[in-house]
Amino acid sequence: MAFLSHVECSVCGHRHDPKQILTICEKCGQMLVARYHLDRVAAAVTKDDLRRRPPGMHRFRELTPLDDGEEPVTLGEGGTPLLSLARLGSHLGLGRLLAKDEGQNPTGTFKARGLGMAVTKARTLGAKGLMIPSAGNAGGAAAVYGARAGLPVAVVVPRDTPEAAVAEAMLAGARVFTIEGTIATAGKVVARVAPALGWFDLSTLKEPYRLEGKKTMGLELAEQLEWSAPDVLIYPTGGGTGLIGIWKAYRELSELGWVKDRPPRFVAVQAEGCAPVVKAWAEKSPVTAPWEKPTTNAPGLRVPSPFAGRQILQVLRETDGDALAVSEAEIVEAQKLLARTEGIWTAPEAAAALAALLRLKDEGELEPGGRIVLLLTGAGIKNPPPPLPPPRDLTGPEESLLKRVQAALAL
Ligand SMILES: *Cc1c(COP(=O)(O)O)cnc(C)c1O
Ligand SMILES: [Zn+2]
Repeated sequence: MAFLSHVECSVCGHRHDPKQILTICEKCGQMLVARYHLDRVAAAVTKDDLRRRPPGMHRFRELTPLDDGEEPVTLGEGGTPLLSLARLGSHLGLGRLLAKDEGQNPTGTFKARGLGMAVTKARTLGAKGLMIPSAGNAGGAAAVYGARAGLPVAVVVPRDTPEAAVAEAMLAGARVFTIEGTIATAGKVVARVAPALGWFDLSTLKEPYRLEGKKTMGLELAEQLEWSAPDVLIYPTGGGTGLIGIWKAYRELSELGWVKDRPPRFVAVQAEGCAPVVKAWAEKSPVTAPWEKPTTNAPGLRVPSPFAGRQILQVLRETDGDALAVSEAEIVEAQKLLARTEGIWTAPEAAAALAALLRLKDEGELEPGGRIVLLLTGAGIKNPPPPLPPPRDLTGPEESLLKRVQAALAL
């Protein structure tokens, strides 16, 4: 039995047939969202059933768009740990600080969840090729899942995209194109070329199923918290798929009656050099305006005009949330702090979330006893490391070896 009921427009509500390959609303051009027969879900699966299933995002099958018998294209994404950051928390005077470490996904970022799901549906619905604009990680994930599905993939990225993500896509057999500009420029290229090629455009939130993959972060988080919600969820926001997805998870779980808490307060974090959501939030505008000349070393946050800006802002309003921008220096410091105190080399985007936490703490915005979750969206290793001093070299006379080590260790 399939649990997906229909796909509807997030703005005008117009219904679309999920048997067709879908992009954006055919009436108004806005973002589409999947809706489920939640009564059927409740009748088909219990929390206890879930406990017995293997970890990973497909354990929540009934709350995903997979059809009866539809095999997912998967590399084992999801099932990431919710880590207690006890040392960092006590350093900051926060008793219940947690991190969901999405860097442990295939491809090293949470993009694996969204693209795994989107590529699965695109293959089932008959796509013959896939094309995606990306800041790096989404392109890498699209290429990897495309390879796994046996579909050709083309990726368009800005010229300054980190090498690891480009290599990941190329190794997986994708054709990678660079372009002067940002992901927005890349998006225009894909919008123009993909339809003419008859290939499917996997742009952020311009098809409904990447969101459903990202939603599984929220389902997992709720289950890891014994079917409850944290007080605050801090999320580094580019296109906003993860933020909207986690919020959607909590909405569906609440309608199912599985979670009684209200959803967490969402804090959207951006970089000072590209902060369209923060600006719109401060100006109380219902929509984002394009950000001129975006600059940040956190590629996933270099999204000057998120297609779903309106929906991101709506989540912030509905959850009494907040939006703030942090500097590049704060991002680097936070990245080092997390690695030093907890051993996690996280992506710069995720480090921005920690930088925001530090800021909120300083400003007295966080309750010391509140349950706070940092969404660590990716692994540090996919990006160039921050500037570090060179390691001490030990080549030299053997007699003084121990002395030199002791001096270096300040013993
Ligand atoms: C894509 C990306 C983001 C931004 O995610 P959205 O869901 O598009 O807001 C954050 N961090 C990393 C590591 C990313 O790759
Ligand atoms: Zn519409």
